[in-house]
Amino acid sequence: TQSVYTFGGNADHSDPRQKDKTITGGKGANLAEMAGIGLPVPPGFTITTEECVRYLAEGADFSADLRAEVAAALAHIEKAVGKSFGDAADPLLVSVRSGARVSMPGMMDTVLNLGLNSETVEGLASASGDDRFAWDSYRRFIQMYSDVVLGLDHGLFEEALEIAKEDNGYFADTEMTADDWRKVVAEYTKIVEREQGKPFPQDVNEQLWGAIAAVFDSWDSDRAKVYRRLNGIPGDWGTAVNVQAMVFGNMGETSATGVAFTRDPSTGENAYYGEFLVNAQGEDVVAGIRTPQYLTKAAREKAGAQSPSMEEIMPEAYGELARVFDLLETHYKDMQDIEFTVQQGKLWMLQTRSGKRTAKAALRMAVDMVDEGLIDEKTAILRVDPMALDQLLHPTLDPDAPRNVLSKIGLPASPGAASGQIVLDSDKAEKLAEHGIAVILVRVETSPEDIHGMHAARGILTARGGMTSHAAVVARGMGRACVSGASDVSIRLADRTLRIGTTELKEGDIITLDGSTGEVMLGEVPTIEPELAGDFGILMEWADKHRRMKVRTNAETPADCRTARGFGAEGIGLCRTEHMFFDADRILHVRAMILADDEAGRRAALQNLLPAQRADFTEIFQTMAGLPCTIRLLDPPLHEFLPQGDAEFADLADKLGVGEDHLRRRAGELHEFNPMLGHRGCRLGITFPEIYEMQARAIFEAACDVTAEGGDPVVPEVMIPLVATKRELEILRKLVDEVAAQVFAEKGRTLDYLVGTMIELPRAALMAGEIAEEATFFSFGTNDLTQTTLGVSRDDAARFLAPYVEKGIYARDPFVSLDVDGVGQLVSLAVERGRATRPEIKLGICGEHGGDPASIAFCEETGLDYVSASPYRVPIARLAAAQAAL
Ligand code: PEP
Ligand code: MG
Repeated sequence: TQSVYTFGGNADHSDPRQKDKTITGGKGANLAEMAGIGLPVPPGFTITTEECVRYLAEGADFSADLRAEVAAALAHIEKAVGKSFGDAADPLLVSVRSGARVSMPGMMDTVLNLGLNSETVEGLASASGDDRFAWDSYRRFIQMYSDVVLGLDHGLFEEALEIAKEDNGYFADTEMTADDWRKVVAEYTKIVEREQGKPFPQDVNEQLWGAIAAVFDSWDSDRAKVYRRLNGIPGDWGTAVNVQAMVFGNMGETSATGVAFTRDPSTGENAYYGEFLVNAQGEDVVAGIRTPQYLTKAAREKAGAQSPSMEEIMPEAYGELARVFDLLETHYKDMQDIEFTVQQGKLWMLQTRSGKRTAKAALRMAVDMVDEGLIDEKTAILRVDPMALDQLLHPTLDPDAPRNVLSKIGLPASPGAASGQIVLDSDKAEKLAEHGIAVILVRVETSPEDIHGMHAARGILTARGGMTSHAAVVARGMGRACVSGASDVSIRLADRTLRIGTTELKEGDIITLDGSTGEVMLGEVPTIEPELAGDFGILMEWADKHRRMKVRTNAETPADCRTARGFGAEGIGLCRTEHMFFDADRILHVRAMILADDEAGRRAALQNLLPAQRADFTEIFQTMAGLPCTIRLLDPPLHEFLPQGDAEFADLADKLGVGEDHLRRRAGELHEFNPMLGHRGCRLGITFPEIYEMQARAIFEAACDVTAEGGDPVVPEVMIPLVATKRELEILRKLVDEVAAQVFAEKGRTLDYLVGTMIELPRAALMAGEIAEEATFFSFGTNDLTQTTLGVSRDDAARFLAPYVEKGIYARDPFVSLDVDGVGQLVSLAVERGRATRPEIKLGICGEHGGDPASIAFCEETGLDYVSASPYRVPIARLAAAQAAL
């Protein structure tokens, strides 16, 4: 098969493999696509991801076939441009860039200006008539190539440049003359020779193959691996390599380079958005060394900026860019993120891809594009990443709360509010976050080496960099609040202090960021609940129209129930009654019950618990107003409720009026070696039926009372946990039925109710056909089902699961995303067998997986009736369920 595809010039773009991102990567596929629709793309070629995979597997070797294909493709560029690679009179220069299937911003390597050496630089100088440009390009090339391909410390080159500027008394790079750059090049070549013991490669083909190898190798760099792990990207995809004729944004005042979005990636507003720099090369924009200028006059005026916009100083190139924006949106039917260069007045497109956006922007764009007739509702639903909604569901700063603003000159780089301790480096941020401490990472600027720290932090503050700086792009992707380019932040790493505005601070001080305004505040500022109307409401309505499965919530407090209903929950899928046992007014009775010596003692204590449980259920039924409520009877092993420390034991002995020794002996008797497989779940109900009796009574009394108040009748769903056999359920169902009959007789009314079970043990899944004879519903408890199927303790998994995922043993943490291949089989089997016995059986899932989009897709396929998720995940589940149904 073909390994190299040419684009631009008179290339043929008809092979479907060339437009397939899995083959040519995102960048390569889109370059071909753009060239195909007639946009100005510098000619080039793409080496496939398949070659990368082969190269990495076969030990860094290139085949003769590949070399021949590359030579032919290079000839295509030479012909299109009318220059030859390595030509001493007028050389062709190329860029070499990575391009994986999905974009991994800043993760992999790029080399620009390749093809320069001590001869061709003279050719470039005379052909362009610009000595300074030629020598500046050469020094950039040496610096990048040495860093990326030769693996030399880039600090050495930066230092040499700083010294050169200082010697000349310059402030900015722009003051350097051709001669100054020539001297820097001489200095750089000396550094290379000294550091690697041989001269900088002069053979342009050697340069090219070195760069190709470096891009392939960068797929397996540490930072790329971290990025892949955080984003669930498989390690076996590989990256493509794009080799493209250079166009120069640094050829004087009529040249420029920029990055842009066809709509505002922060707010979603339908307005061109971007930044550019006159007389600069691409990396200058992203590196945040110079402050970029706005694209449009309107944006410049809105920001109150002085330096003119592209629209004002390059009206023609800007007009062309606007035309390209419109073509791109009509073609891709999505917001595009592009890179462009203007070389002496002519616009060139270097990249387009569907742009990363905040959740807020994603919603607005999806809704707007339906209004504009660009896409339909279904496409809009599929456009929004359910997990991204998380960003919107969390609180923002209370506008009425007093705030002590330290700085307001930073950019609103990624929305949301975040408070935490100031931390000045990423390793420390990660460490503190592991201990549950909220941190704000404060850096001069961030680089790909900071990914783990950014991930660990609640928010990121940088002193340098624009809206498209590394910090801004990555924070938006991760959903972290970010304020970038706050130039009144100065950091002194030596004594780990900093100044923000005029205030002196130190590491560990608390600050608050508002990523939506760019403000930095001292201390913690209170927050308010998000507004869920507007675009959010519209998209959710569409999602509800297109989904089949119901979405319930896991909730046990009236407050959680209210939150979940506000988010659109259609019932409770799991009320864990044990959570109610910990409240201050009842834990003593719970402990008295556990420590009682006999049934009479337990019954006496349970009698004291009954009113509290009844009150809980009453409030929950009232809040849920007739929606279905699944209430699970007590599940955890009893010793979980016992006191921990000595002081607490003494206190309890005192309160219960028994000796401490006696208490300790009872507690010792309750000790278990493996509590997760011990005396818990329905085993408690079998051995201490009085506990389940009390709980059933509280449920039915509350249901009768709330129904008696008028309104929708309550239909309680009583759920028995950890069932393994039909007989267990038979015994406990009879118990529940008896209590129901008693309560109905006492209250003089009857209610419909269901008794069902959780399927959370492999045996239960296998025996589901038989168990369904006793159950009117199944709820898959996939937390325990995962734990018992994999033989992995959910409480101890953290220690070894990360390396397991890194090594690809599990694609994702199986407690987060359902192990569809293994645990999924048990679920499917139980669904099939349960339905065979009882076709109308109600089926749902209440493990954490009920809020995970990939697992929700599996539930849809398997034909479950509902998923149940924690309150803040309910909107995620609604959207994911709709996507799964489409
Ligand atoms: C489960 O096991 O999936 C479940 C929902 O129950 P719990 O997490 O309370 O054990
Ligand atoms: Mg469970």
